[in-house]
Amino acid sequence: MADFPLFIDGQFTDAASGETSQTIDPSTGESVGTVAKAGPEDAARAIAAARASFEDRRWAGKRGSDRAAVLAAVGRGIRARAAELAELEARDSGATLAKAKGADVGGAGFWFRTMAEFAPRLDEPEPLPLTIAPGPSHNYLRREPVGVCAAIIPWNFPIQMAAWKISMALAAGNSIVLKPAPETPATAVKLAEILQEAGVPDGVVSIIPGPGPGTGEELVTNPDVDKVSFTGSTEVGRQIMRLAASTVKNLTLELGGKSAQVVLDDADLDLAVDGALYGIFFHSGQVCTAGSRLLLPESLHDDFLERLQARVGDIVVGPALEKGVTMGPLVSQKQLDTVLGYIDVGKKEGATLATGGVRLENDRLSRGFFVAPTIFTDVTPEMTIAREEIFGPVLAVQRYRDVDEAVALANDSDYGLASGVWGSPARAMDVAARLRTGTVWVNDYHLLSPKYPFGGFKQSGVGREHGYLGLLEYTEPKHVHVGLDARRENKRWFDMTIPRQR
Ligand code: NAD
Repeated sequence: MADFPLFIDGQFTDAASGETSQTIDPSTGESVGTVAKAGPEDAARAIAAARASFEDRRWAGKRGSDRAAVLAAVGRGIRARAAELAELEARDSGATLAKAKGADVGGAGFWFRTMAEFAPRLDEPEPLPLTIAPGPSHNYLRREPVGVCAAIIPWNFPIQMAAWKISMALAAGNSIVLKPAPETPATAVKLAEILQEAGVPDGVVSIIPGPGPGTGEELVTNPDVDKVSFTGSTEVGRQIMRLAASTVKNLTLELGGKSAQVVLDDADLDLAVDGALYGIFFHSGQVCTAGSRLLLPESLHDDFLERLQARVGDIVVGPALEKGVTMGPLVSQKQLDTVLGYIDVGKKEGATLATGGVRLENDRLSRGFFVAPTIFTDVTPEMTIAREEIFGPVLAVQRYRDVDEAVALANDSDYGLASGVWGSPARAMDVAARLRTGTVWVNDYHLLSPKYPFGGFKQSGVGREHGYLGLLEYTEPKHVHVGLDARRENKRWFDMTIPRQR
């Protein structure tokens, strides 16, 4: 069997075709192991298992409080294997150990624990107003599972994103088939072992690493799938919306971003400089919320930039597992080529390359996919590097004259995922109210929590995940009306029924 097999209907298995691929450590270019490559027929089998598990209610029929006990056990299982999972995540995705431990594995456990807290709330029907006209009726709302969910995720936060989708789907009583990105399948397969040990019944969760075309498309078109939850690029999100339309699926899309960080002239500069740096260079900029546009007031521009460049010099780029490294590689050769391509375009379109802009190559780094932290200044709004998501360590710095212009520049984007404001809280909150993004961080950045909703305005997505609000997107609200007056003559049925013989 492959080192990282498929997990379908409670069994670890090879792909029906027998095909495998290698998953590569982006720090070294070496193989992490063989991965079973799920094809459309594996996807169909996983969906059939999910459907059967949903129809016989082996999970959906449990009370939320019982589901919560299993979710909490998953959280404990992740904690018990945290060191092993973090090391595997660092090797498979290029996350530094600090990111892999804290954000990825720590985040995964936090999501399961939080969804365990939320699940019992779904047991209680929500009261709706008692109505007396046209006749007295009692009304209430039940939050029921949507059914079979298909989840498709990208490569930048592999185990955390697997945990997002699975914990929310399970908390609400759904069955789910998850397709990790082909670049980073390893920890999702380990998560399958933990789910099984925690008592998730067979068929309720299947995990099938495989390509988007073919395998992913089966997930979004199969009539037995009720909901698709996709995290990835806006381009693929558009395709998925089109494909899912044929069977009118319930859809959540978490897509790309080009997030602006606005520095106000009363910002605490030490905090804002480090915050801006974290906003763009965390995980080499391969973050959907990366603060890739930095908007500086004219009055602070030169001073801020000087401080920022000095701090960039403190970033230690290197192999993810090496001690002291603060920025790892890009995930693949393909991503490296994309990022270097954007750097070329930035130069050609007339932006000033202030820092970085090159692939890092020496004895230690040449086999991996490393790019120096890069800053462009004199960026204007129409330039490609100000408009398109690069998904790499490239910051575009723009100047503004007054706050109205800063808000206009920040909102001048097809995307609307997140933004940051650095300044005194009262002024920053005024600006936050004017920014058209799903999340605004004030004097902070990148903080996602299972307790708060997350998602995009504009072409950054549809719907919300996380928080109780996000959990509700994995449910169908069902209104139940109970007529309280059983007297036939009091029913106002618009004369559609046969008049009584008198
Ligand atoms: P991608 O869109 O290329 O791929 C994402 C997933 O979709 C992968 O699993 C891929 O195999 C699958 N896929 C590709 N084509 C498909 C198809 N035709 N049908 C079904 N599935 C298909 O994205 P990526 O390069 O893996 O990740 C980077 C992107 O993800 C960036 O745009 C980033 O902003 C976005 N992202 C968004 C969020 C968010 O929460 N908004 C979070 C992380 C990443």
